Amino acid sequence: MTCKNTDKLGDVLVLGIGKTGEGICRYLTGLPAGRVDSVTLYGGARSERSDATRALEEAGVRCVLGTEEVEGHYDLAIASPGIPEPSAFFASAAAASDEIIGEPELAFRESPQRWLAVTGTNGKTTTTSLTTHLLHEDGRAAESVGNIGVLCIGEVAGRPEGGWLVAELSSFQLAETSRLHPRAAVLLNITPDHIEWHGSMEAYAAAKEKIFANMGAGDLAVVSMDDDWCRDVAVRCSGRGLRVCELSIERELGGPDAAFVRGGELVVRLGGVEHDLGCVDNLRIRGSHNWENALAASALALFVGVDEAVVARGLTGFNPIEHRIEPCGEVAGVHFVNDSKATNTDSVEKALTAFAPKSIVVMLGGHDKGTDLMSLAEACCREARVAVCFGAAGPRIADALEAEVKKTSSDLRVVRADHLRDAFDAAVAAAVPGNTVLLSPACSSFDEFKNMAERGRLFKSLVAELAARGE
Ligand code: ADP
Repeated sequence: MTCKNTDKLGDVLVLGIGKTGEGICRYLTGLPAGRVDSVTLYGGARSERSDATRALEEAGVRCVLGTEEVEGHYDLAIASPGIPEPSAFFASAAAASDEIIGEPELAFRESPQRWLAVTGTNGKTTTTSLTTHLLHEDGRAAESVGNIGVLCIGEVAGRPEGGWLVAELSSFQLAETSRLHPRAAVLLNITPDHIEWHGSMEAYAAAKEKIFANMGAGDLAVVSMDDDWCRDVAVRCSGRGLRVCELSIERELGGPDAAFVRGGELVVRLGGVEHDLGCVDNLRIRGSHNWENALAASALALFVGVDEAVVARGLTGFNPIEHRIEPCGEVAGVHFVNDSKATNTDSVEKALTAFAPKSIVVMLGGHDKGTDLMSLAEACCREARVAVCFGAAGPRIADALEAEVKKTSSDLRVVRADHLRDAFDAAVAAAVPGNTVLLSPACSSFDEFKNMAERGRLFKSLVAELAARGE
């Protein structure tokens, strides 16, 4: 148990009655007497009395439901990540409180030792899980927490001596930090996403950069040099004396701290010492974007003292995570891959590079976020044999692909389908032995599904049904 914090938190306001709000309340009500004077939960405009709120009330939480106008005064407010900073609810809570923070920030303040942190538009979960896996491979206690689906605060009370928290942090969570200070942290990429939450691309990028805000000499910032936004962050970090490990899968880098691919080998150089971590072909996670994730996770593990040989071994033993370029069977010579987690165009473009060009039947579509489709259309024309477009965004994607086909005389075949099931049938009909049917939709799933996991599971069950029919 390393939670020895005795700071008084006073009157605390918790915003949101989802998993985060509930978890925070449970933590606060479990603290020793004197640390918290009162806990008030505002559930939001659509919140209603439920078993969850009744249980919280029994634990001493005052629940205010059905309103977003916060009354009273609080020493500290803790906001769930689903409540956007530009919203009236957030503003009302901020006005009623001396300070407003997010859940990872609370967890850090309660237990600040041995944090590693990962952010980026894409690749966070893979890099976080892989880092934890590498620490486990070395026999260390480590937990993946944060945006990955495990509350940071839930792991604080029972932290083992010497254990690490590896935190996946979203831009929403980072926006609400002020003292968070990981020993080492990664920024993988910054591409347009979640602009509606933050208000602008600049605000989104600034939130991501906050991961490094309190780090200094003795810490390590691992920053991609492969996109403009990240390169600017790296320059600013170096400018204030922070040690930066430059990360690239596009070129070999020369500095004393760098992570890159040389002749197909993963290389991490720290303090001028080079670590050769083996061939990219040894990785079970496919695609060049996963080289980037592997390099970033390795840099973190090496930085905290995991041996080079242990890192190399851990890299080769790490399996793809569900819904992320996850192989899910082969039927009649056709491979099926579930990449339901690819909810933006950049991640699809990366996934397309994981397979032999022109062997891919890609399934695209879902809830239309209105994203620009130019670069996706170019990548599909270059890499895919067939694109099956479905769901609410299907027609817009098909139009964009057809326009690109016309412009470039590409041999890409564009097929239109209604829902995921029709799209699957169309993809199977179009595929020939040796092809890969890749669900990598570039869209969120809310037009047809509860979430991307439900979409991925339906895809996998369709593959299983096809296999059972022996087609
Ligand atoms: P996140 O947690 O940031 O959403 P994941 O590791 O869950 O990231 O991967 C989500 C999707 O993003 C994957 O399906 C893959 O297509 C893509 N992806 C993974 N790593 C990267 C990366 N480093 N750069 C770009 N795209 C990536």
